[in-house]
Amino acid sequence: MTDSHRTDAFTGLKALVTGGACGIGRATAALLSARGADVAVLDRDITAVDEPLRGYAADVTDDAAVRTAVTAAISDLGGLDVLVNNAGIGAQGTVADNDDSEWRHVLDVNVVGMVRTTRAALPALRASDHAAIVNTCSVAATAGLPRRALYAASKGAVQALTLAMAADHVREGIRVNCVNPGTVDTPWIGRLLDAADDPAAERAALEARQPTGRLVSADEVAGAIVYLASPLSSGTTGTTLAVDGGMQGLRPRPA
Ligand code: NAD
Repeated sequence: MTDSHRTDAFTGLKALVTGGACGIGRATAALLSARGADVAVLDRDITAVDEPLRGYAADVTDDAAVRTAVTAAISDLGGLDVLVNNAGIGAQGTVADNDDSEWRHVLDVNVVGMVRTTRAALPALRASDHAAIVNTCSVAATAGLPRRALYAASKGAVQALTLAMAADHVREGIRVNCVNPGTVDTPWIGRLLDAADDPAAERAALEARQPTGRLVSADEVAGAIVYLASPLSSGTTGTTLAVDGGMQGLRPRPA
């Protein structure tokens, strides 16, 4: 057994999770904390962030606010080993449905938001012996889902960004990977179902889209993120880990 296989591999590690007040980010922050990491959450709304997690309010579209929050988190944590770029928003429609301002806003949150937090965190990550960045991408980046043009473009950019960042920082000892969740049972999906004409039928359709026949749980995505953040994956960088109930790997094939 190497040191990276110890069950206390996160003890003493310092982590920052964006969008960590809710859904996948919340489950990830809780799991990192349960594994012994000291965890800071950056979110536009931190009212639901409880001890022992540390909350820092910032909108990832506001560069100055992100810098202030990330600097404060790193100072309070005493450094940074793990950055989870998870804050993101959805968008539905074909290219005919979303106007320029919607395109700018979703790309600003989902793509440039990750650039802002990473830029602010890089000096501290360079000083870490276990530096890892995990970006929350989506199966939408590669699955060709209908009525997701803007969202898919934003997540395709996240996947490309992950690879570019992995290449740029590999010799600095910073690993960069991403997860591609399928449909995850979070408040986000709850809002989507609430807005549907027939929420039960919409939920059944989302479940049927995944070969497992059920939605992925936030805890299952958190498990993948924490693996990629942990010394257990020290040989892995520039990869995408799907947590999609088989959506990509088990695409329907001709019999
Ligand atoms: P959620 O809406 O349940 O939680 C998102 C969190 O991000 C919230 O706490 C919110 O306050 C925060 N946030 C959103 N915009 C922000 C901003 N501009 N600045 C700071 N914080 C902001 O969503 P979720 O389902 O947990 O999704 C989290 C990530 O997972 C997103 O990047 C999303 O694209 C991705 N994802 C979700 C699903 C899914 O089915 N739920 C599937 C694939 C990928």
